[in-house]
Amino acid sequence: MSANNLHEADRHMVHQQADLDGHDKKGGMLIARGDGVRVWDTEGRDYIEAMAGLWCASLGFSEKRLAEAAYKQMLELPYYHTFFGKAHGPAALLSEKLTGLAPEGLNHVMFQCSGSEANDAAIKLIWYHNNMRGRPAKKKIIGRIRGYHGNTVATASLSGQPHMQADFDLPYGDRFLHVSNPNYYRFSIPGESERDFSARMAAELEALIEKEGADTIAAFFAEPVQGGGGAITPPEGYFELIQPILKKHDILFVTDEVICGFGRTGNMWGCDTYGLKPDILTCAKQLSASYQPISATLISDALYESLLEGSRKHGSFGHGFTYGAHPVACAVALETLAIYEERDILSHVRAVSPVFLKGLEALKSHALVGDARGVGLIAGVELMADKAKREPFPAAAKAGLAVQAACERNGLIVRAIGDRIAFTPPLIISAAEIADMLARFSRSLDEAA
Ligand code: PLP
Repeated sequence: MSANNLHEADRHMVHQQADLDGHDKKGGMLIARGDGVRVWDTEGRDYIEAMAGLWCASLGFSEKRLAEAAYKQMLELPYYHTFFGKAHGPAALLSEKLTGLAPEGLNHVMFQCSGSEANDAAIKLIWYHNNMRGRPAKKKIIGRIRGYHGNTVATASLSGQPHMQADFDLPYGDRFLHVSNPNYYRFSIPGESERDFSARMAAELEALIEKEGADTIAAFFAEPVQGGGGAITPPEGYFELIQPILKKHDILFVTDEVICGFGRTGNMWGCDTYGLKPDILTCAKQLSASYQPISATLISDALYESLLEGSRKHGSFGHGFTYGAHPVACAVALETLAIYEERDILSHVRAVSPVFLKGLEALKSHALVGDARGVGLIAGVELMADKAKREPFPAAAKAGLAVQAACERNGLIVRAIGDRIAFTPPLIISAAEIADMLARFSRSLDEAA
């Protein structure tokens, strides 16, 4: 089919998280194929995919072993469920593997198809748990401004993304509370140290808990590095100060590792990078290198005890999805985890990360760049209209999109999140490809300045 016909066909699709009006008028970029860290559009132009798609194609766009694993599983058992006491090999093996890799104490796992569903399931389990524990009032959940946990009714309510909430009439507003965004560069008071900023963030959390009453707060959700908020690394001491507050008030800690899991921060989990001890961990994306849709919600023994108790009380555990633990997705995830181990992907990320982070540091001398921070292979670059005066662009999204468009002209796909530019290249990216990626970015900044 010609590219023109494809553009016509594409007009029937309601695009996700998109400027629908602009898309209807101009059409979008149609991606035709991929190889390594590059993708090609239908016009034949190639791009370095500096976002790995949506922070997810960790092994790039041409890993044949994953295609073969899917094909083999489709021939053997293309579908089966894990309802009503049934199970299958790929789900059983993946459960064992994943709980073995998980932070200590997370010995049970539920599978879904997306990060949103993993977090949605976590929310349901938390409410269920507190009902089983005889604490029906302990239900509110705290997220963070600009946090992103998904787009179901519950997870969009939990996320701190106003444009994903406006006019959707999300009904759970009273159950979801938000604390400040921990972007030190943007929100610190002049002269405030990073640690003092973190202490202020922690004090705000504790004040909210005390105002609402700890007996009404069930859980706190956080991404180790905030992705959709703009690839924001936590300020020094942030989680160190927050975790004891959660413990003190008997509040569950959920780490959303949908982006950070499986090496993104240079360790298996963001939890390892930042010393986090969650009660629940959610993951997706890099679990299968995104060759198949699959996500997981890992829970502690205490949470699982509540599910057992509820199952005894009601006759069964009343939760599940037709495609949860899909055998093809589980087989692809198992193969992905095998590849990570065989190729020692963690060591690779640690080896190339300094090239990435040093290159970003050098960009701070650019007139448009106020800040550039990252960890492992995730980073955010903050654009500023006047960096000496710390003055942001009055139309932040326009500034970000101008840089994003210049990048695309230079064969580079990045993501503008307001006035922040996010980078999460495939984990397999080489040092030479990182240098190329940053050279294209630097050229694009010059053009957009
Ligand atoms: N949690 C985080 C941290 C994410 O970044 C995302 C998606 O980008 C989600 C949850 C939602 O995942 P999905 O789009 O697979 O539903």
